[in-house]
Amino acid sequence: MSLVLQPLIDAGRHSKEMGCADGYLRRVHPILAAYIADFPKQCLVACNKENRCPRCLVESDKRGDLEECAWRSTTDTLKTLRRKQRNKQSRKFDIQGLRAVYKPFWKDLPFTDIFACITPDILHQLHKGVFHDHLVQWCTSLMGEKEIDVRFQAMTRFPALRHFKKGISTISQWTGSEHKEMQQVFVGLLSGIVSNDVLIVARALLDFIYYAQFQKHTDVTLGAMQDSLKTFHEYKHVLIELEVRQDFNVPKLHSLQHYVASIRALGSADGYNTEYPERLHIDYAKEAYQASNKHDYVEQMALWLQRQEAVCYKSAYLDWRKAGKCSPLAERDTVSPAYYKVAKVPPHRQVSVDRIRSDYNAQDFVPALKHFLSSRSGRQQVIQPIESDQFDVYNQLYIETGPSSITGRGPCLQKIHASPKVAVRGCKAKIPSHFDTVFMLEEDHQHIRVLVPSGT
Ligand SMILES: [Zn+2]
Repeated sequence: MSLVLQPLIDAGRHSKEMGCADGYLRRVHPILAAYIADFPKQCLVACNKENRCPRCLVESDKRGDLEECAWRSTTDTLKTLRRKQRNKQSRKFDIQGLRAVYKPFWKDLPFTDIFACITPDILHQLHKGVFHDHLVQWCTSLMGEKEIDVRFQAMTRFPALRHFKKGISTISQWTGSEHKEMQQVFVGLLSGIVSNDVLIVARALLDFIYYAQFQKHTDVTLGAMQDSLKTFHEYKHVLIELEVRQDFNVPKLHSLQHYVASIRALGSADGYNTEYPERLHIDYAKEAYQASNKHDYVEQMALWLQRQEAVCYKSAYLDWRKAGKCSPLAERDTVSPAYYKVAKVPPHRQVSVDRIRSDYNAQDFVPALKHFLSSRSGRQQVIQPIESDQFDVYNQLYIETGPSSITGRGPCLQKIHASPKVAVRGCKAKIPSHFDTVFMLEEDHQHIRVLVPSGT
């Protein structure tokens, strides 16, 4: 690492002229500000033992408490390490839980506080850690695996909410998106079976997880985030009373204390989320390997990546030329029109108007279609649908929604499901009808129309 970061020492201290994306040349002092790693590596980088915090001096048995602790200091740590190297005996070395890394790579980097560089990790600390390894396990031991499964199965279907029709105990590999889909319904799932205090614990942790994923923060959102952590610590004793846990001395739960400070110093936590490098591992390593002939693959993978990049640059250039814009940057601000996606082949062909009325309960189908066609065609003469016409019908439709004004995330595809019931066929069980409720903003932005098919 010290070899890799060697150029930063001189450039950080004396600056370097660099060409920026906007075409200007600037004098830049590059410094190491954030270090993204998993917990064992964070501890190695910060030269402390794994039963201690890489950011603060919390004692090894106090990590379950919400208490302000002194930050680790680079000068102090380097001094203690030097003393330990000389004398072999140092009380401070033991008290601070340091390990014998005598030449940490960051010791000569200018303006770098390595302990402040340790970033939150949404994927491993929140989704996989706090939610999956802790909250879900606590609730499972309170309710039993079977009850959790039954409750996941009984959840109401709704667009954009995943329905776990087999529950969660059969899931062998949990991905980041699975965690997020479970979190969306988890508090509702606990309601009515666990005590109010456990519900407050679950809600406080999930609130924290949601706030931590915001892409924009204000003092208000950071305050709310800290409040939800406080609420968790106020009510967590209920889990000890219920004999679910004996203590909360867990590194991942302690790490939540440093989120607000990190966000204030380095920006929102999604900017250094390990989900991105894990995703890129698929694009840059797995797919590149698949494209090779599996012999001497490193060289082939590098060449494949180079070509992918060239294709990407060229197509971005062609898109820009086609659009006739003066600058490729200007395109980023334009909002793409809403679009939809359906299956390539409609699952129900040539369905009569009568069946659309009876099976889908769409009584106004023909007048609504007439209205739609005439509003789209302007003055042109269009063929008007009549009662004896037949139509191809799809089971689901995906609509792209714009970016969220709260989290800044998006755009994303939302699934709208409309399928009639299917009777028993041989050994196949019957499938109940499934009609989603849709809230629709009219074009003039004045009305919200709610489409609720009866029978849901
Ligand atoms: Zn700490």
